[in-house]
Amino acid sequence: MSKGQKLITIEEALQSPRRECCERFGKHVNPEEARLLKLVNIDKRYVKAEGITLYDDEGNTYLDFTAGYGALNLGHNPQEVLDAVRAASSLPAVLLAGYNPLMGALASNLAALLPGELGVTAFGNGGAEAVEIALKTARASTKRKRFLSCENGYHGLSYGAMAVSGATKYCETFGTLMDHCESIPFGDINALESKLKGNDVAAFVVEPIQGEGGMVVPPEGYLKTAEEACHRHGALLILDEIQTGFGRTGKLFAMEHEGVSPDIVTLSKSLGSGVVPISAAVTTEDIWRSAYGSREKFDMTISTFGGHARACAAAMKTIEIMVRDKLWERAAELGMYAKKELDRIGSETKHIKEVRGKGLMLGVELSPPGVPGANMDENFGAMIINSLVDKYGILTSYCDLAPTVLRFEPPLTVTKEQIDKGLKAFEAVLGKGTLGLTMGFMGSVIGRKIRST
Ligand code: PLP
Repeated sequence: MSKGQKLITIEEALQSPRRECCERFGKHVNPEEARLLKLVNIDKRYVKAEGITLYDDEGNTYLDFTAGYGALNLGHNPQEVLDAVRAASSLPAVLLAGYNPLMGALASNLAALLPGELGVTAFGNGGAEAVEIALKTARASTKRKRFLSCENGYHGLSYGAMAVSGATKYCETFGTLMDHCESIPFGDINALESKLKGNDVAAFVVEPIQGEGGMVVPPEGYLKTAEEACHRHGALLILDEIQTGFGRTGKLFAMEHEGVSPDIVTLSKSLGSGVVPISAAVTTEDIWRSAYGSREKFDMTISTFGGHARACAAAMKTIEIMVRDKLWERAAELGMYAKKELDRIGSETKHIKEVRGKGLMLGVELSPPGVPGANMDENFGAMIINSLVDKYGILTSYCDLAPTVLRFEPPLTVTKEQIDKGLKAFEAVLGKGTLGLTMGFMGSVIGRKIRST
């Protein structure tokens, strides 16, 4: 209490008006993010979230087509998952000298659903942590150092995960993150084969579909051929299903599209339905034993909150609902419909370059107009996002490493009517043309300035 500053109570925080919330976030969390959210007018003060719907403090509702970038496949706050977490609330939540009964059960269920021999799980809290576990496991098991990964790939922002992600901005900011890491073009099997030739690669790390890279789908057969090539050269295949997992692409796991059986799979995001953070790196018993199967090494993937009882409860219920309702079938069917409609919209406007993706993991690559002196790659997407949220109550965003690609990634529980609402809004916004969008954007910025003075 050295500053003598009064502490904010949770009740006060929940009652704080939008402007105060924004200022507090900008001052104490991330000034640049606050500025960007404000610019695009998506710094709303949401007071409730249910299914695909967000409610703000002014009585407006929004349809969330971002769904936590794959973390909310069951939508916001699914009641059955909340109930399951409550039911587990009398268990010891953290027990390092022991384990809760849900941990082994969840790992057993993952083993039942995943292909091949994938059957031993190390639990973490977020996606990047699962990737770290996978990288460590590959090195410890193969006794090799080299990692191959893909240009434009995204695996999280911890050191190892960034080292195998494909954006140059990470190395430019932090320098070399980890030695022996090399990236190759995504989808290029010849590049992979030639790098594997030396038989010294520990693992090839890859996403089945590049999410943050712009919803890029590799050529058909790529992952299966990559699996075979890795195994011919003694390398492991680490498949990052953190965003594609749990029904998103039209199968329970994206690896099922090609019958791929990786050596390690990383999972997170929708594993806990966004209700409680949880992640997992699942491997085979043989690989686990060769990496950690001794008294000195068995604890090398343990983290304090990994396998937290409430997180396991959320994950077990999520999986139960996913399998009961076969939500991947819904994603396949509605995704096909949405893609066809987006393609049609694209054929009628010069502002869409390509529509890509699988299931309800879709991306719309925009074709920004050339405006002298303006970076339209980033601004055009921002204008569309602004117009969609402001005029039509549709929340979307662009992919982290691809600012010209808008994501169309709603919860898998979305209805056809809600998809139609999103599509109609998108069509109307693109129909305004560059001038209309610019005017709308300026109007929203000016209107906001007036409201806040
Ligand atoms: N891997 C993939 C494929 C992702 O899409 C993400 C996050 O978007 C991550 C890893 C990192 O997950 P987290 O942000 O939970 O660390």
